[in-house]
Amino acid sequence: MIYLDSAASYPLLPEVKISLMKAFEECYANSASSHLLGTKALLETNMIREQLADMIGAYPSEIVFTSGATESNNIAFKSLLLSTSSKKKHVVISAMEHKCIFAICDFLKDQGFSISIVMPNKHGVIDASSVSDVLTEDTVLVSIMHVNNELGTVNPIAEIGKLCFKKGILFHSDAAQSFGKTSIHVDDMNVDLMSFSGHKIGGPKGIGAIYIRDLRKRDLVPVIHGAGQEQGVRGGTVATPLIIGFGVAMSTFHKSYQSFEKKMIRDYLVEQLSNAGVEFIINGSNTLAHIISLSLPKTNIGVLVRDNEQAFCLAQGSACSSKEIEASHVLMALGLSREEAEHTFRISFTNDIQKTDIDSLVASIKKAKK
Ligand SMILES: *Cc1c(COP(=O)(O)O)cnc(C)c1O
Repeated sequence: MIYLDSAASYPLLPEVKISLMKAFEECYANSASSHLLGTKALLETNMIREQLADMIGAYPSEIVFTSGATESNNIAFKSLLLSTSSKKKHVVISAMEHKCIFAICDFLKDQGFSISIVMPNKHGVIDASSVSDVLTEDTVLVSIMHVNNELGTVNPIAEIGKLCFKKGILFHSDAAQSFGKTSIHVDDMNVDLMSFSGHKIGGPKGIGAIYIRDLRKRDLVPVIHGAGQEQGVRGGTVATPLIIGFGVAMSTFHKSYQSFEKKMIRDYLVEQLSNAGVEFIINGSNTLAHIISLSLPKTNIGVLVRDNEQAFCLAQGSACSSKEIEASHVLMALGLSREEAEHTFRISFTNDIQKTDIDSLVASIKKAKK
């Protein structure tokens, strides 16, 4: 089976698996307990808090561990906006955000917030000027993802961050798809809030983090009310083993991603498709190396998917929307027709993908010609 859906979830790295098994055996104590094993668990989690903070140019006190990017996104919006000190009621997002952002905004609308949705340019990128155009005196938060999970396109986060900073508007960025793959620095990017996920870089599912600038000085509403864990923002016993696994993923993923980038697999796929005489369109430009969104107008998608179920894990659109009849909101925002969207695949590679895997994929695509 060739796995081509790493943007939905990356397979657990072998090093992470070993660390998880060891942590589940040895680091089972509650990190809030004052005995020796509890202290050990606390030290372990704080080491990884520090590691993540170092990677992104933040302070460890500004990192909260969560269950993943969805929860981090929830905290980014709700913890800040639902606190009593927040008077402004206008929020700006982009049309290419992860589905969970739209769900959060629907909830906020019911709480009296108004939402502006910025469209991408034809390259699948959110221009800073389009964000600037919709800012008002009432804007409290802007949220624009770093790298899009369907196209792999990279948004100009530093530029948008600067704009928000100048106007005193909070800026959040969902970095689930970029973390570990491209460099992130919260000061250089002028972000106040940033979301991370463990399972997009070979860590376990159910662990992620959020960066909150000056966390201690803020008036935050907990998204999970609990016994004061994670500075009161996120209740529940801290998931020490998962955090340890996340830490190993953080320290190992990037190196293998860099060797993956050198293989230029995306270029190889494009070249082989051309050689095979397959008609295709690439959606989005200047993308990260692990994602390619391909429209195949002359391919029988039903046949391609059905005949190769056992051979490839291929996603039509993104994981969250592929099982629905509804077309991808990202492709719609790019201006694709429903028909074109139906003929589009989001292919996302693991770091160990081989050129022979691509050869098999291209052969299958060629065979499914209409
Ligand atoms: C996967 C993904 C999420 C959701 O992350 P979870 O950790 O699974 O909650 C959010 N945003 C983006 C951009 C993603 O790719």
